[in-house]
Amino acid sequence: MRHGLTLLFAMGFAWGGPATAAELSVGVATVEITPPPGWRMSGYFHERINTGTHDPLHAKAMVFADGANRAALVFCDLIGVPREVTHKARTLAAERTGIPRDHIMVAGTHSHTGPLYFGLVRDRLHARAVKEHEKDPCEPIDYVAALTENIARAVEQAHAALRPVRIETGTVEPKPQLAFNRRFHMKDGSVRFNPGQNNPDIVRPAGPIDPEAGILLVRDTNGGKPLACLTVFALHLDTTGGTEYSADYPHYLEKGLRASLGEGLVSLFGVGTCGDVNHIDVTTTDRRKGEEIGSLLADAVGDAVPRLRSVASAPLAVRHATIEAPLHEFTTEQAQEAAEVFEQFGSGEVPFLRMVEACRTLDLQARGVRSIPLEVQAFRLGSDVAVVALPGEIFVELGLAIKQASPFRTTLVVELANDYPSYVPTKKAFAEGSYETVNSRVQPGTGERLVETATALLKALAP
Ligand SMILES: [Zn+2]
Repeated sequence: MRHGLTLLFAMGFAWGGPATAAELSVGVATVEITPPPGWRMSGYFHERINTGTHDPLHAKAMVFADGANRAALVFCDLIGVPREVTHKARTLAAERTGIPRDHIMVAGTHSHTGPLYFGLVRDRLHARAVKEHEKDPCEPIDYVAALTENIARAVEQAHAALRPVRIETGTVEPKPQLAFNRRFHMKDGSVRFNPGQNNPDIVRPAGPIDPEAGILLVRDTNGGKPLACLTVFALHLDTTGGTEYSADYPHYLEKGLRASLGEGLVSLFGVGTCGDVNHIDVTTTDRRKGEEIGSLLADAVGDAVPRLRSVASAPLAVRHATIEAPLHEFTTEQAQEAAEVFEQFGSGEVPFLRMVEACRTLDLQARGVRSIPLEVQAFRLGSDVAVVALPGEIFVELGLAIKQASPFRTTLVVELANDYPSYVPTKKAFAEGSYETVNSRVQPGTGERLVETATALLKALAP
């Protein structure tokens, strides 16, 4: 399934402000990226085999153009998208559309009900299956190649659908509260992630949340019909579970927004900085599922639409920078031990954090480098709205710091862009420890450098 939206335009009918010299055009396209059934599922430290499709997975592209500049944002219903895919897909899309490669962003939404198609665990389980069966029964196609092509195709189709539009932006705080910091100070002095609901040993959360959902609404200039809506919200996409493919709560967000804004609407979802934020409220035993979360988010966004501001025209512009991030170090003994621990993968015999650490060490060993490039992008979409894209699962304080320092009234900070280097905790969290820090690849201080870099890019773009 794929479709490019045709965004109609009639000169002189722009409402909400006078027509400006450099009209902004937007094109949107959706390409299906659901793998064949039976793939391994991503997101956990045990093997889960897919049993079908609850709702199909998509790559959704939004292309912006103002005559002088062009840019593209692509969101994939996947746990993340590794650099091997994004680099090639962006290069292909650039070749086919002329949009500069560095002006193209490819992000994962962090759905935990998509395929496990890259990374240490996938590579090891795949190699194990090939050894046993000659072919991996879970992987009947070259998904990396198909995904790369589909991402490029989404950009190409969105580019072909470019039409002048009007955009509006703003933020809303969904009520009731949907997101919760998942790290807690415990009575024994430690910090623990997901300590359990109603756990009497919890003292207080170890970090904040970002309560705001950022919204970018694209309207037809002729009549103002909503055509596409980008929502950015900092909440882990692990609310569905099971073994069927699903886009998680953004699937229900789209359903809800279509009901309120029109059936033809394309809802794009960018995951905000939620490395340490999920949907579990530890003060109760209730737990919302993806359907309820997506519907509540859709209600909040839908209610905010009448209050959104028309984006004052400013030339579209993109800035980007790459930092070299040193990786965590390990010894030969640790690598040997990690290989032994991994032999027990899926057995349930090894304590959770020990397995996480083993996977981290083996991944670092497989990478074979001491540092990795981390790219930061900033997109100025109007005089008072910008999008920042960061790689990895970013702790929420880092995203909040970027929003606070941004000279733009509305700044949408998207994580898991262009690469998946696992978690990027704050220095404070590294000192506190627990799961995310054990599962991180980069050294303490990397997150703060990303904030500095993003802030500098935004300031350089300030109108
Ligand atoms: Zn995660």
